[in-house]
Amino acid sequence: MPTENKTILKLAKVQDAHLKNKKVVVRVDYNVPMKDGVITDDTRIRETLKTIKFLLEADCRVVLMSHLGRPKGKPEPRYSLKPVADCLEKLAGAKTYFAADCVGPEAAKAVKAAKNGELALLENLRFHAEEEKNDDTFAKALAEHGEFFVQEAFGALHRAHASTAAVAKFLPGAIGFLVQKELEYLDKAMVNPMRPFVAVIGGAKVSDKINVLYSLIDKVDTVIIGGGMAYTFLAAQQTNIGRSLLEADKVEEARKIIMKAFKSNVEMLLPADHLSVKEVKPDAPAEVTQSMAIADDWTGVDIGPRSEMLFTDKIKAAKTIFWNGPVGIFETPAFAKGSIAIAKAMAEATKNGATTILGGGDTLSVLKTAGVKTDQISHCSTGGGASLEFIEGKMLPGLVALSQK
Ligand code: AMP
Repeated sequence: MPTENKTILKLAKVQDAHLKNKKVVVRVDYNVPMKDGVITDDTRIRETLKTIKFLLEADCRVVLMSHLGRPKGKPEPRYSLKPVADCLEKLAGAKTYFAADCVGPEAAKAVKAAKNGELALLENLRFHAEEEKNDDTFAKALAEHGEFFVQEAFGALHRAHASTAAVAKFLPGAIGFLVQKELEYLDKAMVNPMRPFVAVIGGAKVSDKINVLYSLIDKVDTVIIGGGMAYTFLAAQQTNIGRSLLEADKVEEARKIIMKAFKSNVEMLLPADHLSVKEVKPDAPAEVTQSMAIADDWTGVDIGPRSEMLFTDKIKAAKTIFWNGPVGIFETPAFAKGSIAIAKAMAEATKNGATTILGGGDTLSVLKTAGVKTDQISHCSTGGGASLEFIEGKMLPGLVALSQK
């Protein structure tokens, strides 16, 4: 059982707090994808609307704060949250004041301008280096914008930053509806899953997913490994992988994970065939391999048709499925077939009554590429990293800070 579970039980919920007419500071995760200043996917904003509307109906003045991208502790115009303020105003249907800074006179001006029933969005928290340092003075300055703190940034819960952790020292606080929904889905799947429980783990690097694989083996019936990380596992079984992605220093770790699955009686499925290419370019010569092995000088870029059938059959027969990471270089349409098939199988499993959960920005992009709508999946997590750390059983700093009050 994730250790987090005990923490969840102790957390106050926004709907239980007495917030009428209060000034409420809400940490949201508006780290949305943008192209040339235009938001290309507003899901993360929409997902916070339930909490925002709840607070507006209670005549609160709502001060929202978020990070965007990875600016290096100083203002960088391309990471400004201004486009988010415009989008939020439309989606929330409430006057939204944008503050050109998250602390200091600019912030105070916007917060003062907002009346009860209105919103203020502060500029990118990461324009200040103190944010990522979890600095108390900076956190106190953020806390001074309100009388109550709501944690609604699920995607940032695994970060011990000033706006997610230290801020809770200076204000009473609670978790918002999105954080509640995320935790409930993940907790239910991990603690008491309907079986068979299948995990599909893909993506580029084994190193990012070692801990989650260890935890999942204690819980699932089948673990499917695809994507670039599958090659390190194949190499651990002495299978030839040609020029495919290999983390040579993780081969031993992969072998241990295979052994753990074997000893725990957990089925582990690796790709049985691959789409391999001479060069990682869309129009390079491509071949489906006859077996798990890849010829010298060839590179695996997607799972092959036999693996596709094997994996999707498992998914469709499961009652709980957790998916993180594409099983091929899906950004190139010619190498996206396997990942698209996984997305479609997830939708079919949902239709047949399974609980399907997915997380991670890339995995959500695959869904879009596959034409599968988010409502065809039981739960699309807004935080890839946070959901993996939760499953690993790690204490998430953004929750711990609130639970210690
Ligand atoms: P991650 O951030 O670890 O979930 O990895 C996602 C990335 O894995 C995507 O950008 C994919 O292009 C990449 N990926 C998936 N399959 C492969 C592969 N066979 N070789 C190299 N990269 C891959």
